[in-house]
Amino acid sequence: MKRILVTGGAGFIGSHLCERLLKEGNEVISLDNYFTGSKKNIIHLLDNPYFEVVRHDITEPYYAEVDEVYNLACPASPIHYQHDPIKTIKTSVVGATNMLGLAKRIDAKILQASTSEVYGDPHIHPQPETYWGNVNPIGLRSCYDEGKRCAESLFINYHKQNDVRIKIIRIFNTYGTRMNTNDGRVISNFIVQALKGQDITIYGKGNQTRSFQYVDDLVEGMIRMMNTNDSVTGPINIGNPGEFSILELAEKIIKMTNSSSKIVFEPLPEDDPMQRKPDISLAKKTLNNWEPKVSLEEGLKKVITYFDEELKSI
Ligand code: NAD
Ligand code: UDP
Repeated sequence: MKRILVTGGAGFIGSHLCERLLKEGNEVISLDNYFTGSKKNIIHLLDNPYFEVVRHDITEPYYAEVDEVYNLACPASPIHYQHDPIKTIKTSVVGATNMLGLAKRIDAKILQASTSEVYGDPHIHPQPETYWGNVNPIGLRSCYDEGKRCAESLFINYHKQNDVRIKIIRIFNTYGTRMNTNDGRVISNFIVQALKGQDITIYGKGNQTRSFQYVDDLVEGMIRMMNTNDSVTGPINIGNPGEFSILELAEKIIKMTNSSSKIVFEPLPEDDPMQRKPDISLAKKTLNNWEPKVSLEEGLKKVITYFDEELKSI
């Protein structure tokens, strides 16, 4: 039995990861300040005696004896990470420093949930890990993008300077059950709008693309990454290479929900990336032939059912 700390454990991805790690027989601590996460996401795990819940902010040091740390604490949706940009940067940078300090002190392995946002508005398509990206350092998204880029730098330097065993994964757009219905991300927005019969808000012309990964595929990739030998540090892309335009996504969701919603076009936010698709050859090679298994249609079906129930319970 391993003792595992998951920061951001009450969030969308963190709660799925805690669930899976517990199922595999580990002892899990969820650490969260509940900025975007909620107890509801982990309530079904609370009667497991091997699950512990800590209310804490990772911008403050934290100490526990664990074997592994998954560092997920950070708001991920643009409306949330732009709400208090300075706090977002501190969460990525000071938070990563605190967690790396902890890993160094107790000799734990530590995995960083980095992001495809480190590629910014990419000029290379699909994006391989060798691409350095195209990020506006002073734009609206920079608190998130540059915070995550700096965290990657901290991770690699703790590894080089202090031999900390690190793993960096770059997560591409991920969706699934337990996403907030109001988190402003495209899949939650479109499904909620379609279910309520409201206008579907496409920002820009809808020709920008994203590649959507179902949360179960991500969790599988994350755990495989943590279990690689110590020479594997990453960064490694974890995403689903199926690429869709935002207009295609809107049409798919309208069809799948049988909705009467109309599409409306609104201004494109500043620095919104035009295209995004992971090159996952490194993940396949390094993570035992890992590849996503859940198609967009299959995943959307599950989330539509979930949001439908959520909306009825509000
Ligand atoms: P989320 O907002 O649901 O989860 C983040 C969790 O971190 C929340 O529970 C929140 O309360 C907690 N948190 C935020 N700031 C904190 C702080 N200072 N101290 C302690 N807890 C804090 O988002 P998510 O989609 O589950 O994302 C989880 C991680 O994965 C994030 O690091 C995010 O950057 C990364 N990621 C997500 C995606 C995606 O598409 N969902 C893509 C790339 C990277
Ligand atoms: N988007 C949209 N309508 C919405 C929400 C988002 O057209 O109601 C667009 C957004 O401009 C972006 C894409 O969908 O081009 C993905 O947005 P999201 O916030 O989900 O993720 P990110 O931009 O961080 O990849």
